[in-house]
Amino acid sequence: MTTAETETVESFRLRARAWLAENMPRLDADAPLPTLGDDDHEWVRARELQKLLHAGGFAGICFPREYGGLGLSPAHQRAFTEETAGYEMPVQLNIPTFSIVAATLLDMGSEEQKRERISAAIRGDEVLCQFLSEPSGGSDLAGLLTRAELDGDTWILNGQKTWSTSAYAADWGLCLARTNWDVPKHRGLTMFLIPTEAPGLHMNRVKMVNGSREFCEEFFTDVQLPASAVVGEVNNGWAVASRQLFHERNAVGGGSPYVSGIAGRPRALGGQSLFTVARATGRAAEPGVRERVGEWVALEAVKNQMVSRVSRAIGSGALPPPAASLLRLFHAEAAQRGTDLAMDIAGAQIAAGVGTDEGVTGRAGVSYLSRQGASLGGGSSEMARNQISERLLGMPREPAADRDIPFNQVKRGRV
Ligand SMILES: Cc1cc2nc3c(=O)[nH]c(=O)nc-3n(C[C@H](O)[C@H](O)[C@H](O)COP(=O)(O)OP(=O)(O)OC[C@H]3O[C@@H](n4cnc5c(N)ncnc54)[C@H](O)[C@@H]3O)c2cc1C
Repeated sequence: MTTAETETVESFRLRARAWLAENMPRLDADAPLPTLGDDDHEWVRARELQKLLHAGGFAGICFPREYGGLGLSPAHQRAFTEETAGYEMPVQLNIPTFSIVAATLLDMGSEEQKRERISAAIRGDEVLCQFLSEPSGGSDLAGLLTRAELDGDTWILNGQKTWSTSAYAADWGLCLARTNWDVPKHRGLTMFLIPTEAPGLHMNRVKMVNGSREFCEEFFTDVQLPASAVVGEVNNGWAVASRQLFHERNAVGGGSPYVSGIAGRPRALGGQSLFTVARATGRAAEPGVRERVGEWVALEAVKNQMVSRVSRAIGSGALPPPAASLLRLFHAEAAQRGTDLAMDIAGAQIAAGVGTDEGVTGRAGVSYLSRQGASLGGGSSEMARNQISERLLGMPREPAADRDIPFNQVKRGRV
C-alpha cells in the first residue's frame, strides 16, 4: 500500500476490532495479580502475544514498513489501543523496548541496526533495554565512568551500570560509555548497542523493598564490541542519549506513539483503581472519600488531555522536544498523588496488608512503598523541572563546575 492508499483510521479500527475478537485472548479481570518478583512467565507471554499481533498484521503500527512496521499514524495507533481494552496485550514491551530503545534506533541507528533490531522486536523475537545510569549517579548522566577503548577495530568495554529495567528479560541494550577523557564530559561519549549475552557482561537482579526484581545491575569486564555496535557517531553519543531521553520522558509521560495497548492493570496503585480501593475498604459512600476519588479522576482526565495536547504540539513543532518533560513531570505528580490518596482512604488497613501483599489494600500498601519511583524513572522530577525552566522557559542554566573542562581534570567523589 502506498501512502496515498493508506487505510483510513476508521477502517483500520473496524478491522482491528474484528481481528482482536477472533484472535486475542480476553483479559481475565478476576485472575489474581501476578506476584511481584516472579514475572518471568509474563515475559514469555509478552513475546507470544507480540508474535500473535505480528502474524495478524497489527504490530509496530507507527514504525516504518522497511523496518517491519505498518508505517501508519499515531491516530491509527490510538484507535488500535482503544480497541484493545479487555484483551491481553504485550504491554511489557511498550517501555523500554518499543517506545524508548527502538524509537531511538529509528532516529539515530545505522541502517543495519534498524533493519535487524527494530524488526526483531516487532516480530516478538527480541526485547530491548537501556544501560545508562551508574552507581555514581543517574542525573548527571554525562558524567558517567564506564569506558570503552579501541583495540584495533574492537571496542573494549569496562564499567558498571545499574537500575536497568527488565534487562534480565532483554536481548540487547543501549549502553552509553566514555570514549574520550580529554574533552568536556558531553563530548567524549559514545552509544553502543550490546547483546546482553556478551562474554564479560555479568548481570544481577536487584530486589526492591516492594518485592519486585525488575531492576538489574551489570558489570562489564573487557566486553568486546565490533565497530558496528556504535550507534550514531563515535564521541557524539550525547546526541543519541538526548534523543533517547526525549523518547523516555515522552513514553513515561504517556505521549509515545510506539506504545500499543492499555496496561490491563496499571502498576500504580498496585494495578487497581482508586474506585476499587474505596469499595474494598467499605468507605465508598463517605463524602471525604468521594472527594478524594474525584480528585484522582480529575488528575487522570487532566493527564490524558495534557498528553494529547503536548504530543500534538511537539509533533507540529509548536513546542520543542524538551516539552516531553511536562508530561514526565505531571505523570510523577499524578502517580504519587494517587498513591497518597489510596493511603488516605485505606488508612490502617494498608498497613495491615503490606506484610502479605494480598488483597486490594495490601496491593495499595506495597505500591506506596515504591511511590518515589515515579519521580525518578525516566530522569528525576527535579531534572524535569530543570529542563522545563532552561529549555522551555529560557531561564538561566544551572551553574556547573565541570562545564567546558576536560573530563579527566574534573574533580570527582572525595578527590
Ligand atoms: C522505575 C525506574 C526505572 C528506571 N529504569 C532505568 C533503566 O532502564 N535504565 C537506566 O539506566 N536507569 C534507569 N533508572 C534509573 C533512573 O534513570 C535514575 O534513578 C535517575 O536518573 C536518577 O538518578 P539516581 O537514582 O542516580 O539519583 P541521583 O542522580 O543521585 O540524584 C539523587 C537526587 O538528587 C537530585 N538531583 C541530582 N542532580 C540534581 C540537579 N542538578 N538539580 C536538582 N536536583 C538534582 C535528583 O533529582 C534526586 O532527587 C530507573 C529508575 C526508576 C525509578
